Amino acid sequence: MIAPEGVELPLSSRAHPWVVFAAHRGFWYRTDPMTAPAPDIPRPLRLVVLVKQVPDTANVTGEAMKEDGTINRAALPTVFNPEDLNALEEALKLKDRHGGRVTVITMGPAAAVAVLRESLYRGADEVILLTDKAFAAADTLATSYALAQAVKKAGEFDLVLCGRQAIDGDTAQVGPQTAEKLGVPQITCVSRIDEVVVGTTSEGASGEKDAASEKDAAGASRGRVVATRSVEGGFETLESTLPALLTITSEANDPRPPSVKLAMVYKDIAAEAMPAYDDSYLDPGADEAQVCMLDRSGRPVCRAKVVQWDHAAVGAERDLVGLRGSPTRVKEIESVVLAQSEARMVEPSEAGIAELVHELIEEHILG
Ligand SMILES: Cc1cc2nc3c(=O)[nH]c(=O)nc-3n(C[C@H](O)[C@H](O)[C@H](O)COP(=O)(O)OP(=O)(O)OC[C@H]3O[C@@H](n4cnc5c(N)ncnc54)[C@H](O)[C@@H]3O)c2cc1C
Repeated sequence: MIAPEGVELPLSSRAHPWVVFAAHRGFWYRTDPMTAPAPDIPRPLRLVVLVKQVPDTANVTGEAMKEDGTINRAALPTVFNPEDLNALEEALKLKDRHGGRVTVITMGPAAAVAVLRESLYRGADEVILLTDKAFAAADTLATSYALAQAVKKAGEFDLVLCGRQAIDGDTAQVGPQTAEKLGVPQITCVSRIDEVVVGTTSEGASGEKDAASEKDAAGASRGRVVATRSVEGGFETLESTLPALLTITSEANDPRPPSVKLAMVYKDIAAEAMPAYDDSYLDPGADEAQVCMLDRSGRPVCRAKVVQWDHAAVGAERDLVGLRGSPTRVKEIESVVLAQSEARMVEPSEAGIAELVHELIEEHILG
C-alpha cells in the first residue's frame, strides 16, 4: 500500500479499497477518523439538587428546643422544604428537555430518607443521604462545607440547584456558601431558567474560541445558563458558564405531583436508611446507586437505592462539620404568636393612614 507524499497511513494494510482510492484522489483527510473534526455532541445534563427536610414551622410546639439550644427534631412534624420542591421541579424540567441525570442530596438524620423517597417518586435518578452524628447541629458554614464535599464526591456536574431558603433557619446562606466552596458561579433567587446550552465533547476541534460557549483546553465546551431572578422592583436576567449553582424561588414553577407508577416502584425503598440494607450482591456489577433484584426469569432488575455517606465517605474534616465546625450557635428559638392586644379605628383618609404608618415605623414594626 503506497501512501501519498507526507501522509502517514494509520490504517492497517487491510484498508478498504475505497480508502486507498480516496487516498490516491487526495480526499485523504476526509476519510481518516483520527483527524476529521467530530461534530459537537451535546451530552446529557448532570444535575444535582440539594433538598432539606424541615420542621413544619406551621406546627411548632413547646418542645421545639432541647436544653443545649439544638432543635428537638423528634418533637416536630417534618416536611419537604417548599422551595426545594421548586428546585427539584426545575431539574426535572431540564432533564425532560435535554435528557440527563438528576441526583438528589440531603444532609440530615436517617429519617430524612423521606425527602429522598419523595424525590424518587417525582423522577429523580439517584438519591444520596449525608448522615452522621458528626453533622449534628451544623450552622450554614458547616452545612455548606459538608454538602460541597458530597457534590464533589458525586462526580462532575453541570448545575447544582437548591431552594432560595429553608423555612426553619431561613438564612438563604447555604446555596451561595456551597457555590463558593465548589468554586463555581452562582445565580440566586431564580424565578425562571431561560436557557441552558448543554456542554459538548469535541476531541480534535481546531481550538478556535467559540464565542457562544467557553471551550476548555480539550475543546469541550462547558455550556452556559441564562436565568432570570427577582430583584427589588423588578427582574434581572443573568448568564453564566457551566458548571454553576442556582437557588430557585417558589415563583419558578408548580412542582409536579409524585407519580403513582414511580411510587409503586420505589414504595419499599429502604424505609429507614440501614447500612446493612444492601443486597447489591445480587448483581456485583451494579453501581452503588442501585439495588438489584432478580426477576422471575432470573434477570437482574435494578432501581435506585439510598446511597448513604458519612463525613469520612465524603472526605470531610471532622472539625469542619457539625457543632465543631459551626461558629454560629442558635441560642434560643421562640415561637412568636402575634396576639391582638388592642383594636383602634384608623380614619380612612391620607392623613389617617400616614399617621398609622408613622406610628408603625416608630414602633419598628415597619421599615
Ligand atoms: C431558627 C433558626 C435560626 C438559625 N439561624 C442560623 C444563622 O443565623 N446562621 C447559621 O449559620 N445557622 C443558623 N441556623 C442553623 C441552620 O438552620 C442550619 O445550618 C441549616 O442546616 C442551614 O441553614 P438554613 O436552614 O438557613 O438553610 P438555607 O440557607 O435557608 O437553605 C437554602 C437551601 O440550601 C439547601 N440546604 C440547606 N440545608 C440543607 C441540608 N441539610 N441538606 C441539603 N440541602 C440543604 C436547600 O436547598 C435549601 O433550600 C438556624 C437554625 C434555625 C432553626
